[in-house]
Order: sequence, then C-alpha cells, then structure tokens
Amino acid sequence: MPFTYLYAMIDRPTIERILDAAQIVDVVQEFVPLKKRGVNYLGLCPFHNEKTPSFTVSPTKEIFKCFGCGKVGNSVNFIMEHEHLTYPEALKYLARKYHIEVVEKELTPEETEKQNERESLLVLSAYAARQFTENLFQSDEGMNVGLSYFKERGFRQATLKKFEIGYSFERRDAFTKKALEDGYKQDYLVKTGLSIQHEDRVFDRFSGRVMFPIHSLSGQVLGFGGRVLRTDAKTAKYLNSPESEIYHKSRIVYGIFQARKTITQEDKCFLVEGYTDVMSLHEAGIENVVASSGTSLTQEQVRLIKRFTPNITILYDGDAAGIKASVRGIDIVLEEGMNVKIVLLPDGEDPDSYSKKVSIDEFNKYIKGHETDFIKFKTALLMDEAAGDPVKKANLIRDIVRSIAVIPETISRTVYIKECATQMGIQEAILYSEVNKMRQQKSFQDRNRFPEPQDLPIPPIQLQKQVLPSAVNSAATEREIIRLLMKYGSTEFERHISKEDGLEVVITVSDYIVSEIISDDLHFDDEAYAHIFEEYRFAMDSGTFIEDKGFVKHPDPAISRMAADLLSEPHSLSKIYSQKQTYVETEEMKLKEIVPDVILMFKSGKIKVRIKEIQNQIKTAQEAKDIDKAMELMKKSQALSAALKMLSKKLGDRIIL
Ligand SMILES: [Zn+2]
Repeated sequence: MPFTYLYAMIDRPTIERILDAAQIVDVVQEFVPLKKRGVNYLGLCPFHNEKTPSFTVSPTKEIFKCFGCGKVGNSVNFIMEHEHLTYPEALKYLARKYHIEVVEKELTPEETEKQNERESLLVLSAYAARQFTENLFQSDEGMNVGLSYFKERGFRQATLKKFEIGYSFERRDAFTKKALEDGYKQDYLVKTGLSIQHEDRVFDRFSGRVMFPIHSLSGQVLGFGGRVLRTDAKTAKYLNSPESEIYHKSRIVYGIFQARKTITQEDKCFLVEGYTDVMSLHEAGIENVVASSGTSLTQEQVRLIKRFTPNITILYDGDAAGIKASVRGIDIVLEEGMNVKIVLLPDGEDPDSYSKKVSIDEFNKYIKGHETDFIKFKTALLMDEAAGDPVKKANLIRDIVRSIAVIPETISRTVYIKECATQMGIQEAILYSEVNKMRQQKSFQDRNRFPEPQDLPIPPIQLQKQVLPSAVNSAATEREIIRLLMKYGSTEFERHISKEDGLEVVITVSDYIVSEIISDDLHFDDEAYAHIFEEYRFAMDSGTFIEDKGFVKHPDPAISRMAADLLSEPHSLSKIYSQKQTYVETEEMKLKEIVPDVILMFKSGKIKVRIKEIQNQIKTAQEAKDIDKAMELMKKSQALSAALKMLSKKLGDRIIL
C-alpha cells in the first residue's frame, strides 16, 4: 500500500470501534441543537454566522454538511473542527464519550521519532505546567515568592489550583535543565518557547515569574503567560509564550476551559483583560468569564465564544486610557451578530481590585445595574467628546454608522438606528440612508463575508453551456469515478450467464470500473483517489467488498472528509453527464450509461496526455536527427490516435469528443 497512517498511536481496531460507535446526530447534537427534517436533521451552522439553518446532518450517510459554508465530514471531522482537536485527540474524545477503551500501540523507537510534533509539544507543555505548580506549592522559593504574592492579593488556593497556577524559578536555566534531565528534547523546549536558545546556551524564558497556563477548550496546556514579581526587573511585566505549532494567540481566549460550562448555563460571557481578572471573578462566583490577554479581539476568538453564547459583556476599567481605541475593535464582535454590552467599572478600579473591594452581592448588583448596550455606550462616549464640534460630530456619526452597518440582523439594525438617532439628535432617515450606503459598498461586502440574502445581488440565470470534454479536466473525471465507486460500488451493473457453469453472474459497478481500468493499466494522477481505487481493486481481488459508506469511516481524516463531500453532493445526476441531458432521470436509473461514459472519458483523457508526451518526444528525436526513433514514436502516436477515435465513436453522439 502506498499509504501510511500518520497516526499510529491508536491501533486500527480501536479506531474502527470508535467510528462504529459514534452516531453523527448524537455527536453533533451535543453542540448544535438539531431539528428533524425528513430523513435528515437541520440546525444553525456552528462554523459560520447564519440565521436560517443550512447545516444538515444525515444519520443514514453518517455525515454533516453545511450548505452555507461548505464544511463537511463525519463525526470525527466534526469534533476536530468544532473542538479544534487533532485527529487522535478527536478520536480520544469520542472514545471517552462512548466509553471505549483506547488501546495505544507500543511505539517503536522509529515511530517515537516520527511521532507527531504537535503531540510532543503538548506533552511537554503539560509537563511544564506540572513542574511549575510543584515549584509554587512545594518549594521554598515558590512559596516565599510566588505563593505569598497570590496570598497577599487574596487568592484562595482552590482558585490557584483550578487555573493550574505555577512558578518558574529565578535561576536562569532551572526549568530547562530539569526538563532535559527528564528526557525532553531541547528542540521541543525551544519550539514551545519555554526555553530560549542563544548560541550554544539554552535558558528559561520565564525565570522568576508566576505562571498562568493557557488552556485549550478541552483543557490541554497550549502556552503560558508569566508575570514577573521583582519590582526592579528590567523586563516586561507580562510575558507570553511565542506562537508555536500548538499556541496561536489569536485563536484562544484565556479561561475558556474553566468557563465554557457556565457560559452555556448563563448564556452569557464576560470579557476582561487580564489573567488575574478572570481568577478574581471566579473567586467572586462569576465563572463565565474569559480574557483576551491584552490583545484586541480577533474574529476567531469571537467565534470561539459564540459557540457557547451570543451574549458578551465587556468589563472595562474605569480609567482605561485606551478605552476609545478598544471600543473601535468591538465592531468585530458586532459583525458576528453577537449582542455586546459594556460595563464601565468605577474610576480607578479593574475587575480584580473591584471584586475584592466589595462583596460578591454588591459586585453582581453593580454589573447588573451598569450593563449598557454597546452602541449606546459608544454613542454616549463619542458624543461627550464631540460636544460643540461639528467636524468631530460628523466623524462620530460615520463611526456609529459603521458599527450599526456591520450588524448582520436587519431588525437589530433598525432598533439601533432609532435609538441612536434620538441619542445623537439627528433624523432617523439620515442614519438609515448612511447605513444602507455603507452596506452597499463593495469593500464593505467583501469584508463581511456572509451578507444577508436580501443584500445579495440576484445572479443572472445562467444557461448551461455545452462543455466540451476537452475542457473537462482529468481531475474531475477521476473524482467522478471515485464518487460512482463510493455511491454505487455494490449496486448491480449488469448480469450475464457464465459460459463455464451456466450460473448467473452479477457484475457490480465497482467490478466493472475496476476491471475496465486495470485492463488498460491506467492510473489515477491524484494520490488520494489512487489510494481509494487501490482499496476497491484489493477488495475485488480478494473477493471481499467495500460497504458503500465505508470510506466515510476511513481512518484517514482526509479520506473520510473527501468521502463525506462526495456523498453529500445534492445533484441527482452525475455532474459530467448532466451536461448533455435534456431531461432529468435519477442517476441510479442511468448507471448503465453514466458509468461506461465516465470510464471512456477517463481513458480518452489519459490517451490524450500520452499522445502529447509522445509528440514532444518526436520533436526531440527529430532535433537529434534520430529518424528511427522518430518513426517508431510516430507509429505509437498513430495507434493511440486510432484508439482515441474508437473511444470517441463509442461515446458516439452522446458526447462530442
Ligand atoms: Zn456553515
């Protein structure tokens, strides 16, 4: 087999058991509410912003497909995509869900060498987090410096443990040395950013800092934030892990692992700025809170939160200097159709200090009493600033118009226009026309990738053009053959009476396709298609068969996703074949024509490529004055041309070659 399994850690029988157990509806429903529609289930796509459900789950095909954004796959693909997990991680997730024991294969030294780098980085990060907590709670230095700092600030041990807070020793190579001793590779230490290499010296990035591990949704340690405690330090107060294979700052928010359950329960997420703000709110009993870690929010971060709730409340420090700058960044949250509210804390207070200053009840009361809708907040803020300055006021209107324009829902936009018009003392009609103008700008629509249907220009109806087969590239034909194999492989193609024993022989679609292709010794260009074809060929040779849905459960995620894609095509008739159809019948009724046609197209495509190659060789031979060689090649070329002509004739007037 030309194919290697990248993920050799979980053995194949276990993978198969997991794939068999995972029910797609069951798996998806944990994250997306689904409604039954006929044989399928329908819901709002978790991967893009939509109001009308186009996310379809087919229990019979065991796949999901979004007709809005095109995401498609089986249960494992869904978990990978939705939970940001790798393939083995997603398998382990499903194994836990269905109580399947995961048998991990003993790795040979060679396999260990090859073991997925990402996995190694995750293992190392988990180890580092353990080391740092041990330092904090069990070493003299950790307790004297780190733990006392947190105690002074009023944090309980339970909260520190919940967030896996740790401490990195002052000595510049303490952690690096320990990790190397424990068998971790220097290469990975540098790649996770835990260590820094300078010429031949390797030392700790985070020495003398208290450590905040940054967890993934499923609780894996992806990276760290470290805060320096010495007041004389000539270094940044906070330091973060650099971007790595596992840590992408823009894709994660701090605290999401600890907050996800409560965010769903409360249907609301608080957003704060720092790590200790998150921890303080947990202490105050508010657990639905995450931090953007100082950076302005990215679309990916907003979508991460949106999976759990559409309601976000941002807590601002009362005296934050950059408040106006950060207010501008919030349009990205509005664009995702989220409801954004703002709470401005009393002057001089941040969530950490204020939650400690007042009782939990008072704190909660303050938040409830001061939650302001974002656009109202922004309008008021900018109005204050623009008071008595017409130029500033014009800019302000443009600014507010932009915030309103990005909101995807028409109804919300209308409500905002009414409110802001009153607030700013201008006519509603003016705001309306400004918002509509902005929404019609092409640059605006390009930026906002999923405009509402009513905003989309209606495409002119296109008449199906006659596509000449020469334009049908070989990749499309290869894909079509694989699709037919997957969809109808075990369907009867024809039957005849055997001359040897007089018994009736049933030829399936896959029997026909495989024997046609191997009899001419033809090959697929596409590696994945070639692999799938080889599996059908092997099944035929060995007298076994492949279930029609077999590839949806293929252990290779790329192949299972492709299979889901091929099988989910809504077209009732083969794409290539429909070009010459004047009326529509079901594809299955036409298999006897479609299958041979596609094979003929595949063959003629291959022959054309071969003829071209030979013609080039003839040229080279002629230039080299090798007359014999040129003659021989010309004969070959003529034979192939004749074969091509014959194929064309077979295709007859059904397809013009
Ligand atoms: Zn979608």
